[in-house]
Amino acid sequence: MDDCLFCKIAADEIPADFVFADDEFLAFRDINPQAPVHVLVVPRVHYADMADFARQDPDGVGRYLQRAVDAAQELGVADAGYRLVANTGVMAGQTVPHVHVHVLGGRPLLWPPG
Ligand code: AMP
Ligand code: ZN
Repeated sequence: MDDCLFCKIAADEIPADFVFADDEFLAFRDINPQAPVHVLVVPRVHYADMADFARQDPDGVGRYLQRAVDAAQELGVADAGYRLVANTGVMAGQTVPHVHVHVLGGRPLLWPPG
């Protein structure tokens, strides 16, 4: 999609600090990290948010969550515990309208979130 930040990162038009990039998904470090480990996992295909993705490709969402869990393992936070976050819509604070899962870990995480 034109003018989408994460589509441009997926197309290598904007640089990112990649953790992995495969045919279907990529992961890169958040530019404004909120924890020692803060990585965004993103599908290459543009979906506005998790609800849009789930509607259009439910099987893909399964693979996506599996990939996010694998990323947490690869990033070394799985044993201690971590958080997967998919801010969805304005009230949740979603700022980039291309679905992304935050993988947050490496410090104790407060609950409930702000
Ligand atoms: P959200 O607020 O859930 O939509 O998350 C969007 C995230 O994208 C924020 O945590 C931003 O810090 C992050 N972000 C914005 N621009 C970039 C970028 N160019 N590279 C990496 N992360 C970014
Ligand atoms: Zn996009």
